Amino acid sequence: SGSVFADIEGAPAIEVFKLIGDYNEDTFDKKVNLGVGAYRTDEGKPWVLPVVKTVEAMMAGDAGLNHEYLPISGLPDYRTACQKLLLGSESPAIQSSRVESFQACGGTGAIRLAADFLKRLMNYDCVYVSKPTWGNHKTIFKRSGFSDVREYRYWHPETKSLDFQGMLEDLNNAPERSVVILHGVAHNPTGVDPTKDQWVEIIKTCQAKNIFILVDIAYQGFATGDLDADAHLPRYLDRNNIEFMAAQSFSKNFGLYNERTGNLVVVCANSELKAKIRSQMELIIRVTWSNPPNHGARIVTTVLNNPANCAEWKEHIKEMASRIKQMRQMLHAKLKALGTPGNWDHIIQQIGMFSFTGLSPKQVEMMINKYHIYLLKEGGRINMCALTTSNIDYVAKSIHSVVTEA
Ligand code: PLP
Repeated sequence: SGSVFADIEGAPAIEVFKLIGDYNEDTFDKKVNLGVGAYRTDEGKPWVLPVVKTVEAMMAGDAGLNHEYLPISGLPDYRTACQKLLLGSESPAIQSSRVESFQACGGTGAIRLAADFLKRLMNYDCVYVSKPTWGNHKTIFKRSGFSDVREYRYWHPETKSLDFQGMLEDLNNAPERSVVILHGVAHNPTGVDPTKDQWVEIIKTCQAKNIFILVDIAYQGFATGDLDADAHLPRYLDRNNIEFMAAQSFSKNFGLYNERTGNLVVVCANSELKAKIRSQMELIIRVTWSNPPNHGARIVTTVLNNPANCAEWKEHIKEMASRIKQMRQMLHAKLKALGTPGNWDHIIQQIGMFSFTGLSPKQVEMMINKYHIYLLKEGGRINMCALTTSNIDYVAKSIHSVVTEA
């Protein structure tokens, strides 16, 4: 009583963060957190990439660095290095000066900038996201004022693979002037990506229906271990002269989660449009975070522009991607050896950091309450690199138990 805040209702907890809290409070010695979306070493520890440490040490000793504001749209060298990483050195759009980009507070910030721009300056109101998708997509677009947030079919629960026909059908029924978010690579949460041939059909459909494409690419390098191979979708769009935006994140592939290191790329039809787009985007940035943080962007720029550092970073990416693959193989083999009912081939077919295990909500509940193994309810999503050679036996046995009991 007596408070102006008295009528505020509590909001539901954000599942991933609630899981972390519950996990931290759990005193069981074999507890495992498979819910978190961050890389872990085989010791179950976060990994500061060695090349990042090297560059940070250099920065600490650099008397020329200070804490002045960056330009509103970010460090210029960062923005061009990000474009090249995404589109490749042969990019037709870069060569004809049709690319603009904006340093953003993580991939999340880049998506928010895109949504604000598409709504305020281009009057889009309808957006399509995959069913299921990363939890933040729908809410970001709603907060930006999109009143029509729709889903296109993506995951087929029976086949535990892509519902390709459903996806095409839904995009084909899109109203005039829709936006679609396409996951650039290593789809979160399902770990299922379209094939190159399927992308051709998907993009054809988007073109036929005039759908504007926002590529969300938060896991470049995590699918194949190769940055170029993982940039297939944006490079395909570029080669085919299609205008699009792409939200990049270096949270995962640089391990820079809390440094909020992202970038929004805009590829447009001619170079004259760039200055107008930039001036408008800067107005959005100015009222959102005014100007972006320095630390993560400085690290990424240094690594991308220094061949020796960059080669080292590529090795780190290979290491992360191959540890994930190894965990897939091991979990699959262990479930087979235990004779766990059902087909578990999707564990090795899926790619990237996550796997939709297909465990039911009831089975997930039992994993958490009975076995102290934390994972997301929808699809039973697990982070593959939260598995280690020390906890994988316990996790496999627990999956076996819930599948046979629940
Ligand atoms: N997009 C997807 C699909 C993600 O999974 C994530 C992070 O989990 C992001 C965007 C945002 O990443 P960031 O932490 O850089 O904001």
